[in-house]
Amino acid sequence: MFIKSKGTHISEHKGHKELSSSSPVFEFQNPEYVYIPLVEQNTPCEVLVKVGDTVKVGQVVANKTGHFPIPMHASVSGEVVSINQKMWHCSGKMVPTIQIKNDYKETKLDTKPNDVESLSKEDIIEIVKACGIVGLGGSGFPAYAKYQVHNPIDYVILNAAECEPYLTADYVLMNNRLDTIIRGLKYIMKAVAAKKAVIAIKENKKTLIEKIRLAIANEDDLSLFLLKDVYPAGWEKYIVQRVTKKDYHSLPCEAGAVVNNVGTAHAVALAVENNQPLVDKIITITGEGINDPQNVHVKIGTNLKEVIKEIGGYTPDLDDAYFIAGGPMTGKAIVFDNLIVNRALTSAVVMPKDIREVNPECLGCGKCGDVCPVFLSPIVIKDALLDNDLKKIAQLRPELCMQCGLCSYICPSRIELTDAVVRAKNKVAKK
Ligand code: SF4
Ligand code: SF4
Repeated sequence: MFIKSKGTHISEHKGHKELSSSSPVFEFQNPEYVYIPLVEQNTPCEVLVKVGDTVKVGQVVANKTGHFPIPMHASVSGEVVSINQKMWHCSGKMVPTIQIKNDYKETKLDTKPNDVESLSKEDIIEIVKACGIVGLGGSGFPAYAKYQVHNPIDYVILNAAECEPYLTADYVLMNNRLDTIIRGLKYIMKAVAAKKAVIAIKENKKTLIEKIRLAIANEDDLSLFLLKDVYPAGWEKYIVQRVTKKDYHSLPCEAGAVVNNVGTAHAVALAVENNQPLVDKIITITGEGINDPQNVHVKIGTNLKEVIKEIGGYTPDLDDAYFIAGGPMTGKAIVFDNLIVNRALTSAVVMPKDIREVNPECLGCGKCGDVCPVFLSPIVIKDALLDNDLKKIAQLRPELCMQCGLCSYICPSRIELTDAVVRAKNKVAKK
């Protein structure tokens, strides 16, 4: 049985990356059905097909509306068999979907490769938008929106930190597709008119670092930046501060930087070179509750329950467990495993229930404040929230919280601090 609980779920301070980092990527490219979610970043999508329509791989089937619109594409060829079928989504909610029955023909929309040398910065931005490329580090934010900057950009930073425990999809992608990622990085540099790019990676990934060094040895505009092996080294603000030595208020472009994850750079390369839309991705399926943890190449819209069954299912003695959509520090624990892969999903982690005693009382140890990367006092914020003391909540600046989950993780009493700080943050935002 899967348990729903907010906050952070990690049993000990270890990376656990060895569970999935060495196996080859498992190909799961032929689901019987895919379910294209009609909600993206809490914004509904406009449906462009109807039941009975035949669709090709890469055909636009819906458009995310709102502030930064972006198309959604069919990930298999076949027939639209239902619209508005509700499925579980990494937001922890059920969302309507377009259900497509796979005809297993993989009929693709006709696209021509681009003459990349002749593309302008505006062309690249338009292609990235048309191909539905979003931030693949978990944000799901439309990538093109980051490139429409007005500030001068000194650096594109390739975020290769993958700092959450257990996750290895970026590591595996870097090992297998480094050339493509580097080409994607160069297209992003062109899109934002940056003269330099930095690949930011944790210093403990020594073999991969050597590989990158060799790959960029003759590239004067590319360099490596080694990050400490700490969580949350992949936090955008942390990386930008370290690379540029500048702070920013709301967006990295204020510090002259644009940050993209390695998966995003890979998707950008495929889009810019071949007009290939984002219809598939590599995700990590791991945790002590998974029989054979590994990385899987899946179509967007695949039901994860089928993938887990295909790779060997759950460990035989799995009793109560957390099924986490996303990483263990920032993901959401959900109670159903028939979760669809949306563009933002990075991973699923299954962990047996932590048997440590829960002590509902704060011990006053101060650890939650010590670990907070933005110097908040989580327990004080939680108490102010309990008292509904809006003035005090505002003074405690919960809006700075980047939801890293460290305070909940470190707390010996297992108090759900992250959840409380996020609720306080929402209260301040509504004021
Ligand atoms: S308060 Fe927010 S930023 Fe600070 S440790 Fe907790 S989750 Fe992380
Ligand atoms: S870490 Fe937990 S026990 Fe320690 S001060 Fe914070 S809330 Fe209290």
